Amino acid sequence: MIPDDAFSLWKEYFQGDPEVRAVAPGRVNLIGEHTDYNQGLVFPVAIDRRTSGLFRAASRDQCRLISGQAGAEAPFRLLGSSPKRWTRFAWACGRALSEHVDEAVPALEGVVWSDIPKGSGLSSSAALELCLLSAWNAVGAYGLSNHELAKIAWRAETRFVGVACGVMDQMASALGEAGRAIFIDTRTEEFSGWRIPEGLGMVVMDTRKRRALASSAYSHRVDECRRSAQALGITSLRDATLEMIVECRSHGLDDVAARRARHVVTENARVLAFREGLERDHRPSIGTLCHESHQSLKYDYDVSSPELDAMVEASALAPGFVAARLTGAGFGGCCVGLIERSKFRSFQAAVLGEYKRHNFTRPHIFEVTASSGAKAGAV
Ligand code: ADP
Ligand code: MG
Repeated sequence: MIPDDAFSLWKEYFQGDPEVRAVAPGRVNLIGEHTDYNQGLVFPVAIDRRTSGLFRAASRDQCRLISGQAGAEAPFRLLGSSPKRWTRFAWACGRALSEHVDEAVPALEGVVWSDIPKGSGLSSSAALELCLLSAWNAVGAYGLSNHELAKIAWRAETRFVGVACGVMDQMASALGEAGRAIFIDTRTEEFSGWRIPEGLGMVVMDTRKRRALASSAYSHRVDECRRSAQALGITSLRDATLEMIVECRSHGLDDVAARRARHVVTENARVLAFREGLERDHRPSIGTLCHESHQSLKYDYDVSSPELDAMVEASALAPGFVAARLTGAGFGGCCVGLIERSKFRSFQAAVLGEYKRHNFTRPHIFEVTASSGAKAGAV
């Protein structure tokens, strides 16, 4: 379960033994993009790419954490100011957990190891948070549920790291189930697992293109949605309707606000239709809904990129294709594809061949399977 590399890393940096191991998955979102910070509907899957770790309570009042991917950072105190680099996620989790349990939590030391590509939209940040919080939950014997841990992780990322994200990533990493996608109503936080039909494979197509201003563009969208909701006279775009948008447009609602709202309204409807399509294994409607989602993200939400568009187009011509769309925040990153599982090799070869016609970076195309959510236990 825990990769050997994590044990080697532990031996390199620590004396004695770890007490707790923890693991949390990344996620891919099948449909429902940019809806979670609008109290909308999402349909992610926890995947078999994970962040794992080995931990124990530190003997001194300082957290010391090593990452196989991002290196060793200076030790830090939870009561001190936020570290600058990746350990700020750990500092944020510790602070949010302390607030939740209403007491000082022990300093944590340990190592993390991950095979989730960072910053490409598979939510390596939520996996890191859930890995750390699951470990803390075990070390401190707090008995918190995974749903509670997801909310604490969300609070860590929004309040203490300062990213205005919705709750999808943390809930997906915490609540994933083998073989199932997780339908989440982010307004009520109700969630349920929906079986992915046998034979329907999931593919991640990573353009490996990171857009430098992705995080500021993301907060810009969050602001635009807030303004759009305000102009429509509602608290969140979850309550918008197409009629309302048309009506307000004739009273001066600007074009950007109208298009952002239209994306959210139509995307929420697509999530429900997609869930039905998945339940009936009705592949033509799954394909159409993903196509419409991508177009809406491209034209109404302005978060696609030439690479993402080329990838979706290349995949539509490949053997075994069922559906494809950009996944995650956009502005680069990954597309998700649904395919006939048995055709993966020929699908991959065909997409690579077609995509090569553009002079973009060579992408990474790999299969993923729906996996269980975060867990921790004694080593
Ligand atoms: P995403 O969540 O889509 O991968 P983010 O920008 O939200 O992208 O999060 C990426 C950040 O999370 C990294 O820059 C790093 O700070 C932190 N992170 C994720 N995984 C690890 C890891 N294994 N080790 C150290 N830091 C990590
Ligand atoms: Mg993230």
